Amino acid sequence: MKKGNFCFNKNQWFFEENVPYDVSRIKIGIEVKRKLYSGRSRYQKIEFYDTYFFGRILVLDGILQTSEKDEFIYHEMLCQNPLFLHKNPQRVLIVGGGDGGALEEILKHKVKEVQMVEIDEKVIELSKKYLPSISKGAFNDRRTKLFIEDGKKFIKRNVNCFDVIILDLSDPGGPAKDLISLNFYKNVKRALRKNGIVSIQSGSLSYQAKLVSLIFNRVNRIFPSVKIHRSVIPSYQAGEYSFIVGSKFNLKKISPLVLQSKFKKAKLKLSYWNPEMHFASSVLPKYLKDKIRK
Ligand code: SAM
Repeated sequence: MKKGNFCFNKNQWFFEENVPYDVSRIKIGIEVKRKLYSGRSRYQKIEFYDTYFFGRILVLDGILQTSEKDEFIYHEMLCQNPLFLHKNPQRVLIVGGGDGGALEEILKHKVKEVQMVEIDEKVIELSKKYLPSISKGAFNDRRTKLFIEDGKKFIKRNVNCFDVIILDLSDPGGPAKDLISLNFYKNVKRALRKNGIVSIQSGSLSYQAKLVSLIFNRVNRIFPSVKIHRSVIPSYQAGEYSFIVGSKFNLKKISPLVLQSKFKKAKLKLSYWNPEMHFASSVLPKYLKDKIRK
């Protein structure tokens, strides 16, 4: 049916493709209002869609990365956990994160500097154009330092540099495939300062349990203290989604009272994360614990 010069196809649905480690054989569709962009960079296929329920979405190599409607759940869980757990985060590094959502989240804190190393400049430029509501001008903040480079090489070069490192990487299929190795996590630990902490988006406990288990066990071998948190991010259609933190200090020593007092002082406007959510999200049912500790 044609409306003016806009061709409306009633049956446009987005289905994810080739999600690494996904054993579900399930496809759930998202109805699309219109395609905003489709093209290729040196590293991956990049698409932006406007959808009825989730608003605009970014898709890389057929896999949904973020949506306007629920990005806050993902970015708050990924960034607020380590930022509140660390005593005094001043220098933060994001590896990946091309949509700018993690950057925007970190800049809510009084940090001195956020470095971001993203392999694909095109994801950043297109996200600024099609998803400005996610980065909210964060790329122009004077504390932001952007590097266009492979995160693996960047991490190797930087020793004892960061208080917090956020691994906001796509699933390990395309350019991020080498960034779940034991050696990579060793270099991440080396790049952290004395009391540093890393936060990792680690996939779906429901559909990618092997991946979550692999990341958890590798991080556990390298870092003295490790915890896993879970949340539901509806656009990911991934059931229980996971976030892993690994730190050089003992995470068990951070009490609810400490987090509550820091949270009160910080006066951040958040919609998902709070100290209660932090502790509640680390409680796992037995069947999920069993999946991880294999
Ligand atoms: N929320 C996300 C998800 O669901 O997977 C991650 C979002 S963010 C868009 C992922 C970014 O990681 C992409 O922009 C991609 O270009 C970047 N990336 C992948 N491999 C990388 C590498 N080796 N070094 C740096 N950035 C990388």
